[in-house]
Amino acid sequence: MKVIVVGSSHGGFEAVRGILAEKPDTEIQWYEKGDFVSFLSCGMQLYLEGVVKNVNSVRYATAKGMRAKGVNVFVHQEVTSIDPKAHTVTVHNLDDDSTREEKYDKLILSAGAVPANIPVPGNDLANIYAMRGRDWAIKLKAKTVDPDVQNVAVIGAGYIGIEAAEVFSKAGKHVTLIDILPRPLQLYLDQEFTDILSDTMKDHNIYLATGQGVKEFEGKDGKVSVVKTDQAEYPADLVIETAGIRANTGWLKDTLDLTEKGLVKVNDHLETSQPDIYAVGDSTKVPFAPTGKELQIALATNARRQGRIAAKNVLGHDMKMPAVSGSSALSVYDYHFASTGIKEGTSDANGVKSQSVFVTDTTQPPFVPDEAGNEKVYFKLTFDPDTHRILGAQIMSKRDVTANINAVSLAIQGKMTLEDLAYADFFFQPGFDRPWNIMNVAAQKALQDLD
Ligand code: FAD
Repeated sequence: MKVIVVGSSHGGFEAVRGILAEKPDTEIQWYEKGDFVSFLSCGMQLYLEGVVKNVNSVRYATAKGMRAKGVNVFVHQEVTSIDPKAHTVTVHNLDDDSTREEKYDKLILSAGAVPANIPVPGNDLANIYAMRGRDWAIKLKAKTVDPDVQNVAVIGAGYIGIEAAEVFSKAGKHVTLIDILPRPLQLYLDQEFTDILSDTMKDHNIYLATGQGVKEFEGKDGKVSVVKTDQAEYPADLVIETAGIRANTGWLKDTLDLTEKGLVKVNDHLETSQPDIYAVGDSTKVPFAPTGKELQIALATNARRQGRIAAKNVLGHDMKMPAVSGSSALSVYDYHFASTGIKEGTSDANGVKSQSVFVTDTTQPPFVPDEAGNEKVYFKLTFDPDTHRILGAQIMSKRDVTANINAVSLAIQGKMTLEDLAYADFFFQPGFDRPWNIMNVAAQKALQDLD
């Protein structure tokens, strides 16, 4: 059997890895249109802040290493079209500008996404950057030490925008963080958490320009110099656009069924509208566990799961993509937070009736001194007030207690209720936590509130 895999990031890598793990003698052709295999944007902040020194190490696989495992790796070669009837793809070799047809028995697409470019006047000026992939990583790194860059405007205060703002603030630049939503990280955290993080960012000289829409970029000598919003003007020697992504699927629109936003439609086995063609990763939707509906959640974790499941199905298994909850975590200076599922602020958009309980505690018993790492912890649990089903949770502390959110993710996936969580068995050791885990505490309080 010959399998062609398109895209070398999380979804593509995992698909290749999954096939190799089970049937290493499969003929695999792996295509990447960029000149680098398997760069992980997830590691970009660590590189930009100098924790990871070599940009080329921010990856899981090399072309050489994968070739040694028998994979035919094609770098700087773009798959430009598919003929589903003939079971062929057209490949454009970007090095010598030649094209050729390649036959496949099964095709796995992980074409991913590209950063969205805000459609306002001036968006073609120089020094308007994005933060995704190795090329942008190298360009951004240079700007962190460029003395001509003093004012940086980051547009989009989601995860990636926060990472960008922190990188450039730590590099000594004046950072303005702009978002049309009233609060930073609004889609990930409710106000109890973002109020604290907003103060932290302000303490580190990040100016928050939230609740403002970008209207125009103004330039000088062809380079961006000012960002104009509907409320103010901000000086900017560098703009970093982190306001969403666009699926990399323009080339597929006449071949596969796509959603209005250009995402490839897949079934629960990750099959597209054409036989023997699978799609995974940021250019698809995933089943969202709290609602059972399909949702776009652009995370490496999802792409990985999908890549592995597509590989299984290509090899003849019968595997469905499990529902996921969008579990994710991030540090903002001293704080570490994680969230999963539905928040108070996202329940309407998900068409769900919800109620939440917010609790604060210390991570360890009161007798453990602060110097031993006993920190305040904030936790919010969201549930269905009628069925008591757990729908989501958020946690934050200066101590890293983010892994608790994985337990809530499992509770959501398992359709567990407040009653299940209230007395669930979690370990206690004073060096780590308290006799009642904060998840127990929150669920017990929720049940009390409902009484
Ligand atoms: P992509 O990563 O978009 O890669 C697609 C690849 O396919 C690209 O290399 C592209 O060049 C190639 N390609 C596309 N079309 C073709 C074609 N026609 N022919 C050949 N090659 C093609 N997620 C997490 O879970 N945790 C994190 O901490 C996290 N941090 C992130 C930080 C940043 C700064 C960014 C930008 C993203 C982060 N993500 C994180 C999200 C994660 O990176 C994405 O969800 C993941 O990369 C999606 O993988 P993918 O395979 O769908 O596609």
